[in-house]
Amino acid sequence: MSAEPPTPRTAGPRTAGPEKVVVVGHGMVGHRLVEALLARPGTASDGTAAGRDITVLSQEPHRAYDRVALSATFDGAGAESLRLPQLDESRIDLRLGVSAASVDRAARAVLTSDGERISYDQLVLATGSYPFVPPVPGHDAAGCFVYRTLDDLAAINEAARSALATAPHRPAGVVIGGGLLGLEAANALRLLGLAPHIVEMAPHLMAVQLDEGGGALLGGLVAGLGVTVHCGTGTARVLTSASAAGGPAPARDGAGRVTGVELADGTVLPASVVVFATGVRPRDQLARDMGLDIGPRGGVLVNEACQSVSDPRVWAVGEVACVDGAVYGLVAPGYAMAETVADRLAGGAAVFPGADMSTKLKLLGVDVASFGDAHGRTPGALSVVLNDPVRRAYGKLVVSDDAATLLGGILVGDAGRYPMLRALVGSPLPADPSVLLAPEGAGASSADAGTGLAALPDSAQVCSCNAVSKGDLLTAISSGAATDVPGLKACTRAGTGCGSCVPALRQLLAVAGVAQSTALCEHFAASRAELFEITRGAGIRTFSELVTRYGRGRGCDICKPAVASILASLHTGDHILDGERGALQDTNDRHLANMQRYGTYSVVPRIPGGEITPAKLMVIARVAEDFGLYTKITGGQRIDLLGARLEQLPLIWKRLTDAGFESGHAYGKALRTVKSCVGSTWCRYGVQDSVGLAIELELRYRGLRSPHKLKGGVSGCARECAEARSKDFGVIATENGWNLYVGGNGGFRPRHAELLVSDVPTGELIMIIDRFLMFYIRTADRLQRTAAWIEAMDGGLDHLRDVIVNDSLGICADLEAAMARHITDYADEWQAVLADPARLARFASFVNAPAAPDPAISFTAERGQKVPVSLGGYPPIPADSPGPMGFSSQAPASG
Ligand SMILES: Cc1cc2nc3c(=O)[nH]c(=O)nc-3n(C[C@H](O)[C@H](O)[C@H](O)COP(=O)(O)OP(=O)(O)OC[C@H]3O[C@@H](n4cnc5c(N)ncnc54)[C@H](O)[C@@H]3O)c2cc1C
Repeated sequence: MSAEPPTPRTAGPRTAGPEKVVVVGHGMVGHRLVEALLARPGTASDGTAAGRDITVLSQEPHRAYDRVALSATFDGAGAESLRLPQLDESRIDLRLGVSAASVDRAARAVLTSDGERISYDQLVLATGSYPFVPPVPGHDAAGCFVYRTLDDLAAINEAARSALATAPHRPAGVVIGGGLLGLEAANALRLLGLAPHIVEMAPHLMAVQLDEGGGALLGGLVAGLGVTVHCGTGTARVLTSASAAGGPAPARDGAGRVTGVELADGTVLPASVVVFATGVRPRDQLARDMGLDIGPRGGVLVNEACQSVSDPRVWAVGEVACVDGAVYGLVAPGYAMAETVADRLAGGAAVFPGADMSTKLKLLGVDVASFGDAHGRTPGALSVVLNDPVRRAYGKLVVSDDAATLLGGILVGDAGRYPMLRALVGSPLPADPSVLLAPEGAGASSADAGTGLAALPDSAQVCSCNAVSKGDLLTAISSGAATDVPGLKACTRAGTGCGSCVPALRQLLAVAGVAQSTALCEHFAASRAELFEITRGAGIRTFSELVTRYGRGRGCDICKPAVASILASLHTGDHILDGERGALQDTNDRHLANMQRYGTYSVVPRIPGGEITPAKLMVIARVAEDFGLYTKITGGQRIDLLGARLEQLPLIWKRLTDAGFESGHAYGKALRTVKSCVGSTWCRYGVQDSVGLAIELELRYRGLRSPHKLKGGVSGCARECAEARSKDFGVIATENGWNLYVGGNGGFRPRHAELLVSDVPTGELIMIIDRFLMFYIRTADRLQRTAAWIEAMDGGLDHLRDVIVNDSLGICADLEAAMARHITDYADEWQAVLADPARLARFASFVNAPAAPDPAISFTAERGQKVPVSLGGYPPIPADSPGPMGFSSQAPASG
């Protein structure tokens, strides 16, 4: 039976008398607004002080309650304890369980869900947000919940109790979303007695607020509390009693009861309860239906007075308001909006002052804080990191490019310094950032651990993060307490902070005559170079075989990508995503794209030597326009296309490969670019064809995997316009041939390349570069750049010259043969993906809804192009906010 539209009980234009204010929504902000209105003298429509006629419509059947403290109900707090301060209900008309169904703006009247028509002079929308649920199959089955209201929590409670009563073992609950709300929900499931899991698509928890280091520590701490965390993977579907793992998707959503969750990587998590904590969206349907202007990412578009830009009699506050293009997922900005509107309705001129989006909270008993420009978005921002796994604390300070001003930071595990640091944001730094981050008692100066270590007095501080002196370290070594770097770390804490003193620890051990372990990690006793030879010699093709035969355990984040790189260098014909190799790769390689902010990806086609035809430029331009991508010319003379969603990558690459483009390997530890100047073809000073050589070299080494990223450059004369000496291999033209320089690096410790050979003809030059690169790939440490590799080599550059120019070890033929194999086997990685449905399946945000975009990603405009604004976890980031958004410690729970 279809419902009849309710018949209005009263109708007609409003009559003169006290000003009529209708507030739609009795959440935290609606409540605060009414409180603020009641505290101010009213203004009648005829201008006299005559009180105010306030009607409040509350869809929820409860009086406003403290949503921020909602989870406390699982800690034993009763719902009554969440009640907000009692309003004087004799002065308002509060309708519980009654919602605004529609608004007739012309007649200035609200039609309620129970059929009443209420006229207004001023209408305030305070309808908050609704939880977003991704459209994965089974998302609406019995046993799936969101986490927003008292009723939601009561339903979760009920489902958990019934699962506990019937399951033979401890039942599990899966929370989808690893943001703040997801962690709260996981804790709730834990308190209810379920075994909690968190599934998070980003590589780490709380990706909106934390960086990789903070997220990794948080993940470890949370795991230690019994929550199983699955990061870097999406949800394929919710399994129900009407579907089965591996079987067909449920015939229709909602069929059956939840039995588990199938992840994008195929893992099946049996579960009785599933909670979606995948972000919120402004609840603006009523406003849309009224014809009000809506913000780009939803929310009622209001001015600085929180007044709708479309109708001066309509106001919006809290999570449903979009002020200056930003929607706020915190209660404190909502309260500020409520005060602004109350003041305006009383004839004042208040404006919304903006909001401090800093976050500090204890999740599952773990301290987490994020403040200011925590992700270092300010141009030129520098970061100082203290990662102390011994104390289980992570801290990062972001400072201005001149290191004079604190811009923001992240603290995980110990947020004791949060109040002091947050207060310092924007102010001159009172001390060295490492001192501000160091644990109590750490010294204020830092020693130069990199050079002249032997000459330093024993009192010199080697580890400034943990105030460990050279004398302390030497004592630990000479007493036998420490015989290696981990030992020194364990007994002195040196090296457990930012880690920059670890090379100094090694040097000190060497100075003291202690032999050093070169083990790759705890799973392999061999160094990377030794593993390369083992893999090569034994003809090993998989990580499993290598770790079973020559290592132990199941591997880690250090050895897996290192072995993946070795296998890629040795078995050049295999695709890096095939078989178990796909799982070894780090995030970027896994998706053949660099993951950028907020889960967007970049696309970087190869433009050999930086030379490109107008037709190809037009292809890039059209692709960028069609997919709405941000475009930027890189320092390596190619074009970055940024802002792609995961599921768009194959579509974009199809267009590019059809036009003859190939992967630029911007995501891999591999050859990136060979930069060139225009050379003798165009330049009056050029003595050689630098563009031709750069293209030849880039095509020769494209796809070459290495311990670190590799770059080259070719300059057509000594003026060096290609900046070739800042590259791993740089070639500069001479009247007689080419000079080859090696070991130049940009990055944290920039280095100029040094001259290896001079005036060599092109053929010889290429042969030497072949040998140089292969020797580096075989013998460098993991993540060791060419400069550090040469520096660490016994005999340095002279030895290198002996090996690869004079063939002192007799290995050059082998090195050349290896490079020849690479060149023959090279195939474009993206083309290979596009040709194979199994490989293509990796590129979906939601596995069973491959066309569905990741709703977590949204954009705003900057200088005529789009830029991403939020990871879409909870809560969203305002477009203009330099800092992260989150639940604010400044947010008072109640008025
Ligand atoms: C578990 C949890 C923990 C949180 N923790 C924090 C925290 O630590 N710090 C922080 O700052 N924020 C936190 N938040 C967010 C905070 O609760 C919100 O920012 C705040 O509640 C927003 O208030 P609001 O009034 O705008 O919206 P809401 O509180 O959502 O209230 C809106 C109300 O309007 C009602 N409504 C909607 N449409 C209609 C209609 N047509 N007619 C009548 N009524 C309608 C809704 O039913 C709802 O009751 C948390 C949220 C949750 C869920």
